[in-house]
Amino acid sequence: MTDRYAVFGNPIAHSKSPRIHALFAQQTAQDLTYEALLAPLDGFAAAVRDFAVAGGRGANVTVPFKEDAFRLATRLTSRAQAAGAVNTLVFGADGIVGDNTDGAGLVRDLTANLGIAIAGSRVLLLGAGGAARGTILPLLERQPLELFIANRTAEKAAALAAELTPLAPAGAARPDGGGFEALAGRGFDLVINATSAGLVEQSLPLPTGVFARGSLAYDMLYGRETPFMAQARAAGARIADGLGMLVEQAAEAFEVWRGVRPDTAPVLAALRQELA
Ligand code: NDP
Repeated sequence: MTDRYAVFGNPIAHSKSPRIHALFAQQTAQDLTYEALLAPLDGFAAAVRDFAVAGGRGANVTVPFKEDAFRLATRLTSRAQAAGAVNTLVFGADGIVGDNTDGAGLVRDLTANLGIAIAGSRVLLLGAGGAARGTILPLLERQPLELFIANRTAEKAAALAAELTPLAPAGAARPDGGGFEALAGRGFDLVINATSAGLVEQSLPLPTGVFARGSLAYDMLYGRETPFMAQARAAGARIADGLGMLVEQAAEAFEVWRGVRPDTAPVLAALRQELA
């Protein structure tokens, strides 16, 4: 019987996940379907349970339900626990496992697709919301020289750094956090935008010097040039969008469900072409 998977969100019509998983399934000859399902804002848990009862084997979860999925899971992986959010669910006889593949997806895009060496580099993470949170430990595992979290609400960044410090791998840099004003006079090799400012075409108050010579500016948004990317380009940085992260987090989820790792390069190339 064909196995069923889905992504839950609200809104969800724009989701590229059904396309990505269809390409993965075709490439790896896995017998599965993957659909986009709109859950009511106050009905996420019921929608997921209905899907599982109807034979669903697993699901992805996107905005605004990642924290609901965290609460719904009966068991959490350590990376979901640290992220405080779940983007991948596995339905089994003994309950619902909650996982988070976003951080692993980002790190894989940076290292495997973009050729970035995180080890020994100065990393700046912009934002302290769900997406930023899920990427901090996977970044620290790669042993950057430093990791600074800057956020519009400075206290949130400082609190996040303090909360995750005890969970950091042995020998890793101690994360630090604050407001954008703390960036004056500092330069970074990798600047990751995990804010949602680009969704509303807003730029960030970044001093030009944050983009060190040869740096990469990475925006988790994809499909268009955001004001952050324009700022980085003007400062001479190389830029990348979050399409690779989207495909890599999907590949990680696919492997969790199916035990097979798809080749992401042709899928990323196909999506890039379709977005052009
Ligand atoms: P959240 O709502 O949890 O967090 C939003 C963050 O953006 C907060 O830190 C907030 O700061 C900051 N922010 C919002 N507006 C502005 C602004 N105008 N100026 C400065 N800072 C601002 O969102 P998520 O963390 O879930 O998502 C962040 C982004 O990452 C989204 O755009 C999302 O699409 C993208 N994303 C991409 C993925 C991919 O696979 N490519 C995966 C996951 C997310 P404050 O705390 O002060 O409010």
